[in-house]
Amino acid sequence: MPCAFCGEGDKWIKTCRTKDDSRLRVCDPCYEALSPWLVIVPGDGVVTARCDGCGRYFNPREMAEYSPGGRHDAYVGDCGTCAKTVPKVQRGIPLARKPF
Ligand SMILES: [Zn+2]
Ligand SMILES: [Zn+2]
Repeated sequence: MPCAFCGEGDKWIKTCRTKDDSRLRVCDPCYEALSPWLVIVPGDGVVTARCDGCGRYFNPREMAEYSPGGRHDAYVGDCGTCAKTVPKVQRGIPLARKPF
């Protein structure tokens, strides 16, 4: 479902609730502009992924690779930065895991 305001966005865009209680999908640029009127609610899909390298949480679209199975139903994988800078072997992570 695309962004309710501009019709853009991918499957990772936020789900928000408006003051009159309707649920909308909102892309990041529109959320920035409209955040005073919107409350983020859990969407139908998981939209967080935890990076093995730096331990931070990201939107899956910022991850170089990810797979299900992280904590709190989040995905787990490598953010774009860590994927480039820290080879997996240095972190003792097997190379076998592939993005799906
Ligand atoms: Zn939008
Ligand atoms: Zn990272």
